Amino acid sequence: MNVLSRLLQLDLPLFQAPTSGRPQAVPDEPRVIAIAGQVVHYVVRRSARRRTLGLVIDAKGLRALVPLRARQAEIERLIQNNARWVATKLREWQGAASAATRAWTPADPLPLFGHPLPLKVAPGRAGLARFDDLLILTVPRPEAGEAVIRVLREELKSIARMHFSQRLSHYSAAFGVATPDLRLSRAETRWGSCARDREGNHRVSLNWRMVHLDTTLSDYVIAHEIAHVKHMHHGPRFWSAVARLVPDYEVRRDAMRRLAAALPQL
Ligand SMILES: [Zn+2]
Repeated sequence: MNVLSRLLQLDLPLFQAPTSGRPQAVPDEPRVIAIAGQVVHYVVRRSARRRTLGLVIDAKGLRALVPLRARQAEIERLIQNNARWVATKLREWQGAASAATRAWTPADPLPLFGHPLPLKVAPGRAGLARFDDLLILTVPRPEAGEAVIRVLREELKSIARMHFSQRLSHYSAAFGVATPDLRLSRAETRWGSCARDREGNHRVSLNWRMVHLDTTLSDYVIAHEIAHVKHMHHGPRFWSAVARLVPDYEVRRDAMRRLAAALPQL
């Protein structure tokens, strides 16, 4: 733990917690329902503030958000009326989750800046090069499994550093602030963070795994962290600064939440 991160740090989580600030008045009720012959587990979340019934599906599964006194029959009718949407969304999330739990191997395509490319491993001095629609990873000993992954990780990090530092300068200039120091991270839970030390110097940490994603998505995270240089909070002035840098940031933020689970585990 260094001084910089102890002082002031704001994180951008991989998955935004949708429940922050919710007073936990009533415990969630676990339920089961059959949708098109499939058993689906879900939870009912009751809230005094809620006036209508709603359904949410994310990495945690299906949740029904309902008023305190909503009847079970009503909740089930809502789910059945939206059965097709529920089944499709659950499948999407399960697909993303299972892709993420299976370890990536060099036989799998490697997503680089949003393009999944076949990877060929060849003997040579450590390096990663792109030829048209093919990536060639050269390593001293191509047969050594873990060593190959280690070289790949280092190569991806150096590509990430090159690309991110360029974009960091771009957004700093656009926002009229000094370019912060860049640090790469492989945090499991966040894309980026911004820290300020006692002297007022900023440092931005960026998750190098964003190198797998389309550059418009890492651009959003970089702009987000740059906006924190002036606004160390997530208030309205912060978000309007983000919107000035990246007008369609909401679309990109939603895409990142969906894609987080499907990144190769390297
Ligand atoms: Zn933030």
